[in-house]
Amino acid sequence: MRKPIIAGNWKMNKTIGEACELVTDLKGMVADVTDVDIVVGPVFTVLSSVAEIIKDTNIGLAAQDMYWEESGAFTGEISPVMLKNVGCDYVIIGHSERRAYFGETNETVNNKVKAAHAHGLKPIMCVGEKLEDRESGITEKVVKDHVVNGLDGLTEKQMLNTVIAYEPVWAIGTGKTATPDQAQEVHKFIRGLLADMFSSEVAEAVRIQYGGSVKPNNVSDLMAQPDIDGGLIGGASLDAESFTQIVKFK
Ligand code: PEP
Repeated sequence: MRKPIIAGNWKMNKTIGEACELVTDLKGMVADVTDVDIVVGPVFTVLSSVAEIIKDTNIGLAAQDMYWEESGAFTGEISPVMLKNVGCDYVIIGHSERRAYFGETNETVNNKVKAAHAHGLKPIMCVGEKLEDRESGITEKVVKDHVVNGLDGLTEKQMLNTVIAYEPVWAIGTGKTATPDQAQEVHKFIRGLLADMFSSEVAEAVRIQYGGSVKPNNVSDLMAQPDIDGGLIGGASLDAESFTQIVKFK
């Protein structure tokens, strides 16, 4: 059985004080949860403060991106060594906003996924089609391209420590959620790709999150699908109450 994983992507929100308040509230509200892996993904400037607050709790820490080199002349970037050092367990890689606004490609995603593993960070690798891709019937082609190239060269062990987030770009921050059937169809397709690339055992064990306007009122129907193992939550993760309701979807 795959343990569900619900992660909050805070995007470019929250100052230190705001982030500390949010995670302190959240910590109390989810303290009794043992059957879901809970992760928060704040901005770089608050990672250290949030790490301190969630130390020895059931909440894991994710960064929202990183560069693949360990150190050096890469102005403005942050390395896997630094993320590990500040207390990150996970790193979100290849979010559609990074692909759209910051030139992220399958090749850079793959470099980052491999660098994360090299430093003991678990990547949450985002994949998903744009609205025009879905409308022109190439959803599977686009998703396959993201999955196959993003995970290229990983060992089975590394794959088992990788989370995939299927996020249809047209559903992110738009209030338009994929229907549970639409999401399940793509999740099943991704699991089939993993079986081809690795093995059926690996495919059965890897967790695939859905992301795109997940809210307290739609999470249960999505989580009821056999191949949906969690959520990557944007807007609703910025409020302790709504994120808690999502974490407690059962
Ligand atoms: C996201 O940014 O990963 C996301 C899914 O955002 P939202 O939940 O706001 O659609």
